[in-house]
Amino acid sequence: MMQRENLLNLVPADAEAKLAVAMTELGQPSYRVGQVLRRLWANPAPSFEAMTELPAALRAALDERFTLPRLELSYRQESKDGTQKFLFRLHDGEAIEAVSIPDGGRTTLCISSQAGCALKCAFCATGAMGFSRNLEVYEIAGQVREMRLLDPPIEITNIVFMGMGEPMMNWKAVDPTLTLLNDPRALGIGARHITISTVGVLPGIIALGKRPEQFRLAISIHAPSDELRQQLMPINTKFPLAEVIEAAKVFDRRVTFEYVMLGGVNDGIEQARQLAQLARECRAFVNLIPLHPGGSQGFVPTSGNEISRFARLLRDRDVEVAVRKSRGMDIAAACGQLRVERLGRRAPSAAEQHGDVQVA
Ligand code: SAH
Repeated sequence: MMQRENLLNLVPADAEAKLAVAMTELGQPSYRVGQVLRRLWANPAPSFEAMTELPAALRAALDERFTLPRLELSYRQESKDGTQKFLFRLHDGEAIEAVSIPDGGRTTLCISSQAGCALKCAFCATGAMGFSRNLEVYEIAGQVREMRLLDPPIEITNIVFMGMGEPMMNWKAVDPTLTLLNDPRALGIGARHITISTVGVLPGIIALGKRPEQFRLAISIHAPSDELRQQLMPINTKFPLAEVIEAAKVFDRRVTFEYVMLGGVNDGIEQARQLAQLARECRAFVNLIPLHPGGSQGFVPTSGNEISRFARLLRDRDVEVAVRKSRGMDIAAACGQLRVERLGRRAPSAAEQHGDVQVA
């Protein structure tokens, strides 16, 4: 038998082309192509079998040629504030997380781009577990598809790449995933409602800037000097602050700086001044993130009052700033925390050599 092709790894134009060939070979009218295409993402079906608008023989024939792999939901947890955390098990046993965060009329889904992460940021639970592998296109976009397949479905209006992994080190898959998220024939989420968060991987930022859609970029700054950033984020050796700031400046759309507030570490007056300077240089919007304490070895959160004071210092220097609400505190909803809770910290794998971490 021929190798079955995974239709969920393809952008709409490619899936359409494959389906068109199949329908011709099967002697089907061409409107069947659009019918199936809609059932991949826009109004997803869990299987060909479930596409009951198609003749049974056609469903069986499609199933012989193509696959529509699901992500297996292995755990689901809901916070008092409505935040929900999903742990998915992948075909090779890897586990990834997604978090849905309702807020007024919108619901943001925080998605993962890698299983684990190679970057080892000092305060991050995913960094502590090490890198396993890059996710494929269908595994990243599939996190949103699975929300539509729930009963009742969760309507996702916004996407943030703030789950496990560094999206810009899996650009090969993230690039087509952005197309699937945005294309009206697939998930149809507006580009301005999709945010890619990165530690500042330059080739990825450049590649994102070249895309015509207005996707948003958030950069994890976390420290306003190389000396401190180096201690918190080892990747700073490869992409030092000056280069990250330069990239933020040349990116043709407004960027957000993410700054996780670490008590007594990066929350002083001098740091507020330095951060304000950097933010003004690139007209960046600053998002202050309260530290999610679970999984962040040895760090303590900055108090609410101190965060407000830090925010005021930035505002006094004409920087636009928001303090992110901490959500899902009771369900360990920060990056990587659920997987650590459910599976424990596993021993570092061979992949830790990062042989397959791939940059744009
Ligand atoms: N690798 C990308 C995206 C994933 S992390 C990046 O680093 O930007 C998404 C955001 O969550 C980052 O800003 C990261 O620093 C932050 N984060 C990680 N652990 C956290 C914790 N324990 N509390 C609060 N924010 C955390």
